[in-house]
Amino acid sequence: MNKLNDYADIVGKNYINQLKSLAINLKKKKVIMVNSTKDGGGVAEILHRLVPLLNELGIQTKWETISGDSDFFNTTKNIHNALQGQKICFPREMLEHYLEVNKKNSEKFEFSEDFVFIHDPQPLPIIRHFNKNKSKWIWRCHIDLSKPDLSLWKFLKSYLLQYDASIFSIAKFTRVLPHPQYLVPPSIDPLSDKNKELEKSEIDDVISSFGINSDKPIILQVSRFDRFKGPLGVINAYRMVKKEINCQLILAGGEASDDPEGKIVYDEVRQEAGNDPDIKLLLLKPNSNIEINVLQRIADVIIQNSSKEGFGLVVTEALWKRKPVIGGAVGGITLQIINHQTGFLIHSDEGAAFRIRYLLNRKHISEKMGKLAREYVLNNFLITRHLRDYLSIMIALENKNKHIVQL
Ligand code: UDP
Repeated sequence: MNKLNDYADIVGKNYINQLKSLAINLKKKKVIMVNSTKDGGGVAEILHRLVPLLNELGIQTKWETISGDSDFFNTTKNIHNALQGQKICFPREMLEHYLEVNKKNSEKFEFSEDFVFIHDPQPLPIIRHFNKNKSKWIWRCHIDLSKPDLSLWKFLKSYLLQYDASIFSIAKFTRVLPHPQYLVPPSIDPLSDKNKELEKSEIDDVISSFGINSDKPIILQVSRFDRFKGPLGVINAYRMVKKEINCQLILAGGEASDDPEGKIVYDEVRQEAGNDPDIKLLLLKPNSNIEINVLQRIADVIIQNSSKEGFGLVVTEALWKRKPVIGGAVGGITLQIINHQTGFLIHSDEGAAFRIRYLLNRKHISEKMGKLAREYVLNNFLITRHLRDYLSIMIALENKNKHIVQL
């Protein structure tokens, strides 16, 4: 596992020293992170890195998960969807079960730590079983709350009011709350298998195992087979481009078989692709990190044609590999793509085709934008910035009543 100093080659020694200095203010503090899974998903991926790094900085940090039965997780999935705007009816017993499971989980915690970070809605109401006289409680929300189902929001807010602060990924995801709110965008780990620099032999291995023909320019989208990711629109845009440029399209996404909806979308995409030998659908196994890394590095143009998006980490991953990204102007994509600088924001398949052609025909501009893209991620979306944000928030909460904080 990489140590903090290993990141100095990327962000500079001064940045690492700054993190160490900030952490001095929190020496001997204890932190607990609570979410509902250690495997899969962006939250777990980030915590797997953040927790060891906080410990390395001398802040004793534990990571625990809550458990629940399938009814509980069905309810929390519905809560997640309703908070992001879907109309869903919540019978009383469903929400009572949600509270009950949280109550059961509360028995295994003491929460005597100085900072309690509760991630997302699953463990949100656990706070009501604790007398939080000493600890600072922070709700870390990774989802878009801009248009929630209002009655559900009212129910959850009654528990959220007991927290000392909330953290959201981007400004437009927030709501009015009576406590401090902080904005902390997600981040990627530049040293992970998905993002680290690769040897040529590693790249060649993946190219040959997928049977990719490197002779034609590659247009790539990496994402789950989900309608909101717009895979059919990508094929449409590719076909418009193909009339003028002999290119190929790769759509790569996770095992569709575990998700019935994913399988349906995959079949639709398969059908739309027909027998075009220049469209490759790659069904990726879980943890295909090196594979995704390679695909993003060998692509000539990367697209993320989402019509709805949380943050869209896959965009940051591509920008980090010096690739400008053509992305739907939604959610966190708008924070990552600075139009005409780190990529292009699009609103239609025609727009996507126009920008794909633009980049394929202008390699020098693509490279120039790619350099900016890399720099933008370096300054904004790396795990080290995430770490600095968490340290700063804890220091701010520790000094809540002071006008000046001496660091
Ligand atoms: N990803 C993956 N396998 C896949 C598709 C995506 O590992 O088959 C990764 C992708 O590299 C990124 C994350 O899953 O790290 C997707 O995050 P994003 O925010 O882009 O979209 P989400 O799937 O969370 O809506």
